[in-house]
Amino acid sequence: MAGEGECPIIGIDLGTTYSCVGVWLHGRVEIIANDQGNRTMPSCVAFTHTERLIGDEAKCQVAMNPNNTVFDVKRLIGRRFSDVSVKDDIKNWPFKVIAGPGDKPMIVINYKGEDKQFAAEEISSMILTKIKEIAEAYLGSTVRNAVVSVPAYFNDSQRQATKDAGLIAGLNVIRLINEPSAAAIAYGLDKKATATGEKNVLIFDLGGGTFDVSLITTEEGIFEVKATAGDTHLGGEDFDNRMVNHIAKEFKKKKKKDISGDPRALRKLRTACERAKRNLSSTAKTTIDIDSLYKGIDFYTTITRADFEELNMDLFRKCIEPIEKCLRDAKMEKRDVHDVVLVGGSTRIPKVQQLLQDFFDGKELCKSINPDEAVAYGAAVQAAILSGEGNTQVQDVIILDVTPLSLGLETAGGVMTPVMSRNTIIPAMREQVFSTYSDNQPGVLVQVYEGERTRTRDNNLLGKFELSGIPPAPRGVPQITVCFDIDVNGILNVSAEDKSTGQKNKITVTNDKGRLSKEDIKKMVQEAQKYKSEDEGHKKVVRAKNALENYTYKIRNTVTDEKKKIDDAIDQTMLWLDDNQLAKVEEFDGKMKELENFCKRIFVNMYREVFLD
Ligand code: AMP
Repeated sequence: MAGEGECPIIGIDLGTTYSCVGVWLHGRVEIIANDQGNRTMPSCVAFTHTERLIGDEAKCQVAMNPNNTVFDVKRLIGRRFSDVSVKDDIKNWPFKVIAGPGDKPMIVINYKGEDKQFAAEEISSMILTKIKEIAEAYLGSTVRNAVVSVPAYFNDSQRQATKDAGLIAGLNVIRLINEPSAAAIAYGLDKKATATGEKNVLIFDLGGGTFDVSLITTEEGIFEVKATAGDTHLGGEDFDNRMVNHIAKEFKKKKKKDISGDPRALRKLRTACERAKRNLSSTAKTTIDIDSLYKGIDFYTTITRADFEELNMDLFRKCIEPIEKCLRDAKMEKRDVHDVVLVGGSTRIPKVQQLLQDFFDGKELCKSINPDEAVAYGAAVQAAILSGEGNTQVQDVIILDVTPLSLGLETAGGVMTPVMSRNTIIPAMREQVFSTYSDNQPGVLVQVYEGERTRTRDNNLLGKFELSGIPPAPRGVPQITVCFDIDVNGILNVSAEDKSTGQKNKITVTNDKGRLSKEDIKKMVQEAQKYKSEDEGHKKVVRAKNALENYTYKIRNTVTDEKKKIDDAIDQTMLWLDDNQLAKVEEFDGKMKELENFCKRIFVNMYREVFLD
């Protein structure tokens, strides 16, 4: 049980396009709204010549400041600049990304007139800082610990980098949780009362930029991820892009102008298209109305749900393929799936729901959980479990995750030899004995890969290390035990030991390449604090400027209003004087008193308004 006055652990869904935070309070999960009243926040950070903006404020100004507004950073975290996926993504981003030391992608922006470089972890940490502040404002106390969700397919380096982002934000990430597992927890709690026996649940998570399908088995509060599949580049943004291209073509046809080279116009159009797309989930037709889209030209058009579906049909159909793969991996038939759960904002699209329902032969889809909040909900439940909070129902929940990819070593001839197969339940430990391939070989190079291909060159290198000091012996004689140990967060440690001599030489693989060093993190923590105090300084300046402006307007308005009243009283007194030249002393005195009292009231009111309020 968390101690009196201690702050609860928060659950964070750190999404590619949107993020969400929840906390276990008063016996249930509360999804925390930000200062704008929104329950999800764009995962977006912007830099201007005066300030840094995070979340809604950053997204709002993206059309005016496309080169310095960073989004989609989850696609970069823990990756290398030379990764094919990074190269592809860069082509679609208006902000600049360059290769930093160790092939680490660095985001280049201009902040306060100066070029600055940020690692993906730093940008993510800025989003986490904002989330931390939102939670702190709601809870009224400092938040230190969090459970953060990551996609099931995230590799070791991406998981480590996510934890580092938390560290830079001043958050202790006590657990990383796979997103489908988090959604399954949310779902499990919903249905627990009625659940009987083992249930196979398919989690269909179609977000802004990613698509994940997971098959989960749940029984008496135990969740086991049986298989995962998906497409790291399929989601709401792709649907937006299709609409953007369509409308841009229409603009070209109608206005004889090409906006494709103007990032600002494209951003403006994208924002309008995203809004239209959301509308089309509930209406059959909507309008797109943009003032000054390009070179001062306004644009107005309409789009129907049928048009939108036509534009995206191939993408919607692509969402079904990974389900088949997932079922194959889990050795299940579609009739074995008891429930299909919708997660992610894009599952609100009626056509997507229909295709999914048709695939499952008309099965009712589970929509009871808000698709934008399910992951944060589950992360908050996990946080409650870890802090010993929550009711007995929550405490019964145990989560078992699986490795998304096979993990293994390179053996002679560049062959991938798996040590831990895909979909192994974690935490897990596997040992395998290897030997030398030449006589008197003094050492071995242990190269750790993840992936399903038979050749290591087609898989992903996680790290490598040398085990030297092997005594001379014929090939195949030394016994080198390699141990793969994967913890609850899915983070991998590999060690090697020369069994033939009993000599222990244990080495742990770390993701040096692209991974932030302790010094880097320390420096970034300091910089994060500097940026935070700069933000606060800027807010203070804005507040002071607003206060002065408001006061000036207030005095001006008060003085103008009251002066008008006095002018009226003076005019009336003058008129009275003209009409009453021969009045008596008491009558002049009476009029005098009347005017004096009136003016006194006005001046007292003015004094109060201007100085006391
Ligand atoms: P997520 O990453 O799960 O928060 O999903 C965000 C994505 O869901 C964005 O691409 C949104 O445009 C999309 N989205 C949210 N609401 C709707 C809706 N009503 N209809 C269609 N797409 C939506």
